[in-house]
Amino acid sequence: MEGSWRPTIAPGYRVQQVKSKFAALCFYARPSDDVYALDPTFDEAIRAAEWESTETCEDCCASGAGCYTIRLWSWTLCPEHARERAAVAQS
Ligand SMILES: [Zn+2]
Repeated sequence: MEGSWRPTIAPGYRVQQVKSKFAALCFYARPSDDVYALDPTFDEAIRAAEWESTETCEDCCASGAGCYTIRLWSWTLCPEHARERAAVAQS
């Protein structure tokens, strides 16, 4: 991230966990320190990013990527990077 970048929906948000699950982004966060705070716009933005991650190459961010299982791990990759990762896995 650039130094000047700031979130506009919830500037004081708190990230709880970020991980990959079945080749998709899982982003758990709260809009503020208040554990009871609700912000539908904040939640919708996260869900939209999680959906977008299911079609975005993990290596080059190309859209239209697909899900590939390589060495028992699921990846979302463009065809070019799927070939590269499969070749590395077989070497
Ligand atoms: Zn790619």
